[in-house]
Amino acid sequence: MAREVARLIRRSLFVLLINLVVLTAATAADGSVTVDEVLSETGARLQWDAARQVGVFWKGYTRVSFRYGTGYAVVNDRDIMPLVSTLGPDGTLVFDASSAAALRERLIPQADRERRRISAIFIDPGHGGRDPGTIGRHKVGGELLEIQEKDIVLDVSLRLRELLQASFPDRDIVMSRKDDVYLTLEQRTDLANAIHTDVNESVLFVSIHANASLNSRASGVEVWYLTPEFRRSGLIDAERVGVSDSEVLSILNTMREEEITIESVLLARNILSSIYSEVGNQSPNRGLKKEAWYVVREAKMPSVLVELGFVTNREEALRLADKHYLQRLAHGIYNGIVQFISGFEE
Ligand SMILES: [Zn+2]
Repeated sequence: MAREVARLIRRSLFVLLINLVVLTAATAADGSVTVDEVLSETGARLQWDAARQVGVFWKGYTRVSFRYGTGYAVVNDRDIMPLVSTLGPDGTLVFDASSAAALRERLIPQADRERRRISAIFIDPGHGGRDPGTIGRHKVGGELLEIQEKDIVLDVSLRLRELLQASFPDRDIVMSRKDDVYLTLEQRTDLANAIHTDVNESVLFVSIHANASLNSRASGVEVWYLTPEFRRSGLIDAERVGVSDSEVLSILNTMREEEITIESVLLARNILSSIYSEVGNQSPNRGLKKEAWYVVREAKMPSVLVELGFVTNREEALRLADKHYLQRLAHGIYNGIVQFISGFEE
């Protein structure tokens, strides 16, 4: 399901830029094959940008990107492989025998070889130390109840870590902070970006905050993701990929950006609906929000930000002061992450 959605979105994103190659079949005695034969043998799809002469073969989560005339292709933005193509008499792309074999090997994978995996989950409780975040003060039975964002988001994050560690002993569950310390936004994203991943592995970034409003009636949970219009740079490690062509790097960067956006939206959706299942009878669902928001802007991975509720709303502040309620919020976020992972790795 998730994969179908992703595929649909991807397709529509490319519609403006890409013209599909018109294909005709031809067979050669030297073992070379036409692009048409590659597609029918492997079941892959091809997107071709005629203006830039850049093509991308897609099969499942495998992408083989190449530019005509360069003699190489890049697999999943990471591995480089030789790929020699020429143009046949009728303008059809033709690959030599060894390039055709390499394409078959990449696009008809052995079971599980190309399978993607979430290897780590990065939990980022907002604020901390000298930065309390938002503060709610309410009179409750003659006493003053004060709750600080930095405390409740740390509490929920530690509960979330415990749930994830119990379910995923083979994945790294990393926290930006485990106690009441101050970290800059840059330190947080640097920590997440520094997590080591192997090929086909990815990290999830979940930042946790609480809300405040001048309107004391505002309440409910929100999940944010980065607006698709925002463009990060340097998503592709040129050295790792072994490509210095800035045009190819820029195209690879755009493709990776689109992929991260699609995954962030799916993660946000899963988390929001799971939190709603847990606490929807108490706290309204304020929906998915997108913004070029600052916290996870430079995180080079699927990233979301969860707003647990409004400390400025009296009823919600009472709920957020209750450990059982915080456990239910943590459980909601946990369920959403589990759902996302099972879709991502299917
Ligand atoms: Zn905050």
